[in-house]
This record gives sequence, C-alpha cells and structure tokens, in this order.
Amino acid sequence: MESVLDRFLRYVRYDTQSKESSTTYPSTEGQLVLLRDLATELRAIGLGDAAVDDFGYVTATIPATTTEAVPAIGFIAHVDTSPEMSGANVKPIVHRAYDGRDLLLPDDRSAVIRLADNPPLAAQIGHDIVTASGTTLLGADNKAGVAEIMTAAAYLVGHPAVAHGPVRLAFTPDEEIGRGTAHFDVAAFGAVCAYTMDGGSRGDLETESFSADAMTITFSGFNTHPGYAKGRMINAIKASAAFVDRLPRDTMSPETTDDREGFVHPYVASAGVDRASVRLIVRDFDVTGLLEKEALVEELAREAAGVYPGTRVEIVVEEQYRNMKTVLDRHPEVVERARLAIRRAGLTPSARPIRGGTDGSRLSFMGLPTPNLFAGEHNFHSRLEWVSAEDMEKAVEVIIHLCRIWAESPAR
Ligand SMILES: [Zn+2]
Repeated sequence: MESVLDRFLRYVRYDTQSKESSTTYPSTEGQLVLLRDLATELRAIGLGDAAVDDFGYVTATIPATTTEAVPAIGFIAHVDTSPEMSGANVKPIVHRAYDGRDLLLPDDRSAVIRLADNPPLAAQIGHDIVTASGTTLLGADNKAGVAEIMTAAAYLVGHPAVAHGPVRLAFTPDEEIGRGTAHFDVAAFGAVCAYTMDGGSRGDLETESFSADAMTITFSGFNTHPGYAKGRMINAIKASAAFVDRLPRDTMSPETTDDREGFVHPYVASAGVDRASVRLIVRDFDVTGLLEKEALVEELAREAAGVYPGTRVEIVVEEQYRNMKTVLDRHPEVVERARLAIRRAGLTPSARPIRGGTDGSRLSFMGLPTPNLFAGEHNFHSRLEWVSAEDMEKAVEVIIHLCRIWAESPAR
C-alpha cells in the first residue's frame, strides 16, 4: 500500500491555487485536474461510487463492514491552496530524521525554517519533515488532509475485518477563497457528522471558530469645483478618515488581540470626495460580542459623519460564518469520539479555538456538525510551510480509530 507520505508528495505537485476574482466553480482549472484524478484513484482502491459532481466536489463511500445500524460519518479535505503564495511547480523536499538544525530551503537562501521560530519542531526530532524548496508554498494545507483520508480509505478497504459503518469522503475546491461549501450538498452527503482534516499539531482538535461578519461603511458627500465650493462641498474622504481614526487601537484590532479576544478590522478602503467606503471584518467567539462590535462601528461611523454636516452614511452588514461550537454543543458525541480516537492513537487531545473559520464552521450550520482535526500542517500559506510524515501517519490512525469508535457505540 502506498504510504501517506508518498501520496502527499504526489498531490503537492498539482498546482491547485484558487482565485478570488474567478467566477467559475471551481475557481481554477488546476483544482479540477486533481479532483478528477482523486475520483479515479478512489475507484482504483475499490470505491465504486466515487464521482465528481458539476461543481468539482468529489465524493465516495466506504461501505459498512458491519451489519449493525451504524450512522454514516464523513471526512473532508480541500484541494485548493492559498491565493497568497504561488503553488506552481512545488518541489517537495523530505528532510530525513530531523536533528533540530535549521532547515535550509535551496531555491531561496532567505528561506530558513528555524527551531527558535517554530516551537512545534521540538516535538519532531528524528521525524521526516517535508518542506517546499523556498519559492512556493508546500500545500500541506490541505493536501496533508487529502493524503491522510485517501490512505485511511485504502487501509479500510484492504482490512474488511475492521468493523465500521458507512464512511463518506469528500474532497472540495475553493476553501481558501471562502467558497468551499457554496455548493456542498449536505443532504446528498448523508452523514450524521463529518471531520475536516485541516488542522495543525498532532493531537489538535478544533471545535470552536470565530463568528464572523463583514461590514461596508459608505460615506456620501457632495463634490463641486473646489474654487466655488464654499458652503457647498461635503468631502466624503474626510468623513471616512475621521471614522478610521476613531476605530479602537489598543484593543479590538488584529494587531493587539489574541486568544479569545475579537476585533474589528478595516482591510480595504476607497475614497473620493463624492463617495468613500471602508470594508471591515468583524470577529468574535460569541454572537453577542460580535453584535456589540458592530454597534460600536456603526456609532463611530455616524459620529464621524456628524463631524462633516451633510455627509450621509450607509451601513451594510453581511453574515460570513458562525462559531461551530453552538452546533457542536448539541452533538457532544461528535467531539467526544474525536477525543477518544486521538487518545487511542497514543496522543493527548488539545482543544484550541480557531481565530478564523473552516469549512466546518459553515457545514455545522448547514446541518452537518463538523469539527476540525489535526493534519500536521504548519506555517499555512507560507514559503516556510512544513509537515512531518509521522504526524500524517498519526492522522491516518485517528481516522481509522474514529470509524471503529462510531461502530462500537452507534448511539443515535
Ligand atoms: Zn486549509
């Protein structure tokens, strides 16, 4: 059987970068190439129903090996890589038996992975570390997850003595541009819960994400010839600047918060005399905190508009995703079984809130409770991305244990 490392080394060679400005689904052709090959590979390992749908989603079923009524569970990974860093011509390098020294990436002398900057490397002495060559990302996010799910599937098909219920698999596009679940058919997937394999250090179990909204604040002024503007011109640029200047500095900003604190973050602005707009994202672990922050933003926007009489202000809020914990709290067995599977793999589960969202954040609210499990990924979206072969092997073990555990006590 092909090892998880060998599968991983194959998948990272596909350029599957997603693209925000694209209007197609998936957003790039390269993703479809890998998705189609994954469907072919799933059929080759014996999963006859493996298919690619019209949107590029690959799904397949590992049939149950027990006659007991065990609910279907799912495993999900995304094939796309971040638009922030090139994913073309990735040259993976396996650094055998890591000894704690700096990992030098040959294609760029400034690309060095140091133990001092990467505390999780301390747990990797003796392990095989995979990196890119210094000019691209590696794509461990999330091809580590793809390789782990594929390897676990091949193992389960080859070991029918392992008792498990139906196991559903999905490989999805466009997670990195926030569209990973746009066409995900939860009803057709038909699982009671799923696990995304898209986390970091071995043992990590993520059951909490931010709740997230986007806001657009638009100031409308009045433009006229500046030589004859006295008493008439209303400059929207000045109102928007007054607004941005009023935003919190020492608190509630990405650059001044961590752990469980939320923030408001202006990330793009465009301004003219007639019209100026500021886009913000708002993040908090609970919806009350989210709404408080939005009320504050609104108050500051109105206050800034008031400084320049005649300025009109328009505020639009768009929901992005919600903290999956709200849903997972109603399905405690989904998380408990993941913890048990991690322990059976000889690891200590560590739960940490994600200061971001995953496809699972949305899927949970679409009716598919979906926590995120470790895949061994580190330095996401960076030239310094790395993963260890041993962590990927542990993730494969966790998937297999989870399938067993759901068949042991199929409550529900
Ligand atoms: Zn990811």
